[in-house]
Amino acid sequence: PAHSPVAVVTGANRGIGLEVVRRLAESGYTAVLGSRDPAKGEAAAEPLIRAGLDVVPAALDVDDDETVTALARWLTAEYGRCDVLVNNAAILYDTWQRPATADLDVVRRALETNLLGAWRTALALVPLLRDSPHPRIVNVSSGGGSISGMGAGAPAYCVSKAALNASTRMLAADLRGHGVLVNAVCPGWVATDMGGPGGRPVAEGARSVMWAVELPDNGPTGGFFRDGRPLDW
Ligand code: NDP
Repeated sequence: PAHSPVAVVTGANRGIGLEVVRRLAESGYTAVLGSRDPAKGEAAAEPLIRAGLDVVPAALDVDDDETVTALARWLTAEYGRCDVLVNNAAILYDTWQRPATADLDVVRRALETNLLGAWRTALALVPLLRDSPHPRIVNVSSGGGSISGMGAGAPAYCVSKAALNASTRMLAADLRGHGVLVNAVCPGWVATDMGGPGGRPVAEGARSVMWAVELPDNGPTGGFFRDGRPLDW
């Protein structure tokens, strides 16, 4: 394709996603900054664009089929390609509740965004990704989604991330023949709105994500990593 490689990041108007967009653009990608609130996306993109980076804000609510399919149509018309999908958007780090007394509406909402939102976005972009010379899907997961290490905290969030990990393995198996590397990564505990104060800098979380974007074509697929090292499922 004539156009430079294109990367899409969901939930990229703040936090780790925004930093991943900056790094992708610095690495030569056209970086599509997905945001469910278009005004927030434009405000987040503005300083990056002013710094000369190829960052393009796009309306993208991963809960909403219409915005997801519209994004796929727009990528097809505008660039004719998509090379990287970073499923970063997530909600409901529900440390206030426990599994034995959980509000299932909270669980349902977490699954909708953290599992189905990522899966929905992948479904829409797989036709473009399959045609990329070096396609990557990176699902931003969490050590909290590790079943072997699971305690009783943040049940909606942790179950949604465990399910995201399961979908990662299955998508990887299905897309292996098309050369798409699909991996789950934990960014570590990062000081963002979700992580709260005390975590490591956003740059370090973004580096853990970018490791899975930058894998060579013979790199792993269907894995779960933090800082380039495998995590237990
Ligand atoms: P933030 O809460 O700072 O940012 C989350 C982003 O997701 C926001 O841009 C938010 O948009 C967006 N978002 C939420 N719902 C949707 C939706 N339906 N459609 C599109 N975008 C949406 O989180 P972090 O940057 O900390 O987290 C990024 C990823 O890293 C998440 O997957 C998280 O689970 C994971 N992670 C984070 C850790 C941490 O310590 N911070 C630890 C382990 C994993 P809006 O501004 O509109 O709300």
